[in-house]
Amino acid sequence: MLKRLRVIIAVASIVAVTLLFLDVSGFAARHWAWMAKIQLIPALLSLNLIVLAFLIGLTLLMGRIYCSVICPLGIFQDITARIRKFFAGKKARNSFRYHAEYRYVRYTVLTVFAVLLILGLTNLTASALAGLLEPYSEYGRMASQLLGPLYDSANNLLADWSAARDNYIFSHVAHATQWPVLIVAVLTFVVIVLMPRREYCNTICPVGSILGILAKHAWLRPVIDTSRCNGCRKCERN
Ligand code: SF4
Repeated sequence: MLKRLRVIIAVASIVAVTLLFLDVSGFAARHWAWMAKIQLIPALLSLNLIVLAFLIGLTLLMGRIYCSVICPLGIFQDITARIRKFFAGKKARNSFRYHAEYRYVRYTVLTVFAVLLILGLTNLTASALAGLLEPYSEYGRMASQLLGPLYDSANNLLADWSAARDNYIFSHVAHATQWPVLIVAVLTFVVIVLMPRREYCNTICPVGSILGILAKHAWLRPVIDTSRCNGCRKCERN
């Protein structure tokens, strides 16, 4: 039941965020711009203390809920993992195993990201480099550059169709390709899709590293009763 609820919220969340990046009419921005404001790094950069307190409190209470249902890049990785599992054989379906975190990689990336974020307050290059590691920016680039042309084409078809019926509620939009951004988006997409289940989250993501530190102290974190564990590793697989 809880898992189903999580999936429903996660799907609604990624659809809403994706539309924020694609919608040319401004409808999404008018109705759910708050979805962008509850992303951790944007909230940090805008010093949105209420959102920051909410996210920190949520993590300290229930662990990385943020990674489950708020972060679009995390949800996107769940979707790619699900697709991979669907096409893989039965053996591969059970091949996702727990492995310990690569702590040194994780904290090195976090340190570099923190430095870039601070330098980025006054330096555009540092800000752009920080954006390469920040999950919300990464997802936004993929959505706008890879899905944007499709969305705009569909919008233009709809505009033609409605104009032929004397209805001008939709208007044409021109999609301007920004090649450097497109190349970064394609590379990000390839890396994310090729990585095993949530490998990016577990190894690289600086936001995940921050939340991971907090989640270790979460009030409702899962705890294994070692006196009753028989080592079947079912929890690992599931
Ligand atoms: S670890 Fe990073 S990319 Fe993964 S879900 Fe959490 S915030 Fe998003």
